[in-house]
Amino acid sequence: MMALARFETLRALSSLLYPPVCTICYANVGANEYLCEDCHNKVTRIVPPFCATCSEPFEGAITSSFSCANCSHRKLYFDAAVAVYRSRGIVRHVVHDFKYRRQIHLRHLVARWLCAALNDVRLRGRRFDIIIPVPLHPTRERERGFNQATLIAQFLAEQTSIQIKPVLERVRYTTTQTAFDRAERMENLYNAFRLRKRMDVRDLRVLLIDDVLTTGATLSECARILKEAGAISVHAATAARA
Ligand SMILES: [Zn+2]
Ligand SMILES: [Zn+2]
Repeated sequence: MMALARFETLRALSSLLYPPVCTICYANVGANEYLCEDCHNKVTRIVPPFCATCSEPFEGAITSSFSCANCSHRKLYFDAAVAVYRSRGIVRHVVHDFKYRRQIHLRHLVARWLCAALNDVRLRGRRFDIIIPVPLHPTRERERGFNQATLIAQFLAEQTSIQIKPVLERVRYTTTQTAFDRAERMENLYNAFRLRKRMDVRDLRVLLIDDVLTTGATLSECARILKEAGAISVHAATAARA
């Protein structure tokens, strides 16, 4: 985090010399803004109708309760996973630059997207005892230099005054998820996580955080471990959904 603090100082200094610009199109923007209005308007928010469990959006009007194709043939262990934006176009680009191109300042923008999840009816007014970021395997975290879920979860913790705790650890280094189909993903993730030593989640209501939900397999596997360890409930929030 020292490196991050230095980075922030440099950024603050450089913003005095160079006015802030849009991350996507380089148009001038206000202080602490990362997208211009045009680019912001191109971002796709996930709006109803969507699956109540995994936030998969649907075309057309669906009024009855249903489970989507993503959820119907498997057990998901989280109570609900709220995703705010579609991981397409600008959102996908921003998250990619943040994670893989070390544009760490973009955590502010991704965290802002994540925090909007708290307004969702599935989370609003609900009490949480603890915020838990989905962990990376230590080897991957070393390669990347940070855990993106932890960085954005910190903003949420500040805003809500709910404590953030790295209760989980990732014990298996799994290959890149996109190379697998859904069944293989579930298999691949089984027992990839565990509770850290001396950590206790008994009787806690958990808010689990990740940057992007793809199939929900990662969040579900984390939720399974947390519930086995005695958590009362596990809701998940992500900035985006594939
Ligand atoms: Zn722009
Ligand atoms: Zn679903």
